[in-house]
Amino acid sequence: MNEQVVGIAASSGIAIAKAFRLEHPELTVEKTMITNPEHEVARFEQALERSKVELEGIKEYARKELGEDKAEIFAAHLLVLSDPELLNPIRDAIKNEQVNAEFALNEVATMFGNMFAAMDNEYMKERAADIRDVTKRVLSHLLGVMITNPGMIAEEVIIIAEDLTPSDTAQLNRKYVKGFATDIGGRTSHSAIMARSMEIPAVVGTKTVTAEIENGALVIVDGLDGMVIVNPTPDVVQAYQEKQAAYQAKKAEWAKLVNEHTVSRDGYHVELAANIGTPDDVNGVLANGGEGVGLYRTEFLYMGRDQLPTEAEQFEAYKTVLERMEGKPVVVRTLDIGGDKELPYLDLPKEMNPFLGYRAIRLCLTSQDMFRTQLRALLRASIYGNLKIMFPMIATVDEFRQAKAILMEEKEKLQSEGIVVAEDIEVGMMVEIPASAVMADVFAKEVDFFSIGTNDLIQYTLAADRMNERVSYLYQPYNPAILRLVKMVIDAAHKEGKWAGMCGEMAGDEIAIPILLGLGLDEFSMSATSILSARNQILNLSKEEVAQAIEQIINMETAEEVERFVKETLLNSPISAS
Ligand code: PEP
Ligand code: MG
Repeated sequence: MNEQVVGIAASSGIAIAKAFRLEHPELTVEKTMITNPEHEVARFEQALERSKVELEGIKEYARKELGEDKAEIFAAHLLVLSDPELLNPIRDAIKNEQVNAEFALNEVATMFGNMFAAMDNEYMKERAADIRDVTKRVLSHLLGVMITNPGMIAEEVIIIAEDLTPSDTAQLNRKYVKGFATDIGGRTSHSAIMARSMEIPAVVGTKTVTAEIENGALVIVDGLDGMVIVNPTPDVVQAYQEKQAAYQAKKAEWAKLVNEHTVSRDGYHVELAANIGTPDDVNGVLANGGEGVGLYRTEFLYMGRDQLPTEAEQFEAYKTVLERMEGKPVVVRTLDIGGDKELPYLDLPKEMNPFLGYRAIRLCLTSQDMFRTQLRALLRASIYGNLKIMFPMIATVDEFRQAKAILMEEKEKLQSEGIVVAEDIEVGMMVEIPASAVMADVFAKEVDFFSIGTNDLIQYTLAADRMNERVSYLYQPYNPAILRLVKMVIDAAHKEGKWAGMCGEMAGDEIAIPILLGLGLDEFSMSATSILSARNQILNLSKEEVAQAIEQIINMETAEEVERFVKETLLNSPISAS
């Protein structure tokens, strides 16, 4: 009774229902020698075709139920199924080695999957998951084994699985699937992102949930605290029902704030904006009362394809976002590729330290054609809304000047071609490298605004790779070193009459929010689903009161001390949201 499994809180909320173990049948592949390779290749092609038809169906379902960007996952799967780099070696193996299609497929796909999974790169790791997912589908057709279709579930359940493949998640019907818990995965895995956009409570990365939970057992998924409770006693069920009701009541309260401005108790106004990756994400921004887009990560336009997006394609994407935001500010970040975000088709050499390497603005200032194409698309789109442009990974004043000069050149060229460009585009920079935070007073004279990228600023300041679990204890947003840098940036901006925002995850963090308000941050940009709870929090805080505690906070010795102080004196909500 009441056994607990601890994991990562991936999507907020509480769910209580019977367990449904989503098991993928063991697809055992044996090697057999064949005598008729043509026939075997034909069998392989037929399984490919069937898989494609199935995936087209799932893609359409995802498009209707979940939106364009989720459907893109299946478009990516369909691409895998048409990729000659993967398929030709399989056909060759069948013909040359005279082996059965199942074996050839398994060998080649495992080789590619392992290669991608071993890369120190989240994006490529996800591609490995795509290959595995697609391989399973084709194998099931070759072996004549049915894959469980989660879309057929017709009673209220909590899904328990080792992992949820993107195709599983896309088929989940919110009416019946109340939550899920998995053995593997992290907050940025496909399944976690899907869960947040579907607003299904989820706990991932538990390591043992499939070992602990039987089909039909009563389960509680606590997506607020990252916990799964198995066979709870009636008392525990009741306690969680109360927690669930309290959370629902909070959400209902927050929902009333969707059209409100974000004004602290003592009348200080801040802007709550959202981070987006695709034009479709604007739906979530509007639904959650975002007052702008504080970070449009344009690299997603360049990913999941095999060549650079054209100026026309980019123009359409930027125009769509600007128009849909109806004059609210939209901060577009120019291409930030490298580090954890690779573009295979650029064919850049592998580096020892990609986070410190040839990336973002460094790449754009040398590959100027690519950069200029993006800037032209942005400038042409500028007349459709309130565009602000920012450059990523600026380390030196010279880099900012060069990037801005290129932007101005493109603007003049367009104007001389008779193309209208907005006159008042603000040009700013990300502050995500400690050197630029330290030199913020110098930068502040040149930029129109700063946006503090704490995701990187923390990793560079504490020299702790943001992807490396072993040093995650050093990845400390509340470390006074970070708070002092953030203060320097905000103060420097204000001294020059400029504004300072933050688009790293820290901007939506319940502990950080009071400190950032006290420091005078002007714009907070976060995932859309955090906006309403952040607004609620700020409405209940007094900017002056927290400002008075700032001196004390930045002189604290450790991150733990800061966290404890905020929890004890500045937090009023026992329920957090992700
Ligand atoms: C950051 O570094 O804080 C940031 C917002 O950018 P990204 O997470 O895309 O590196
Ligand atoms: Mg960054």
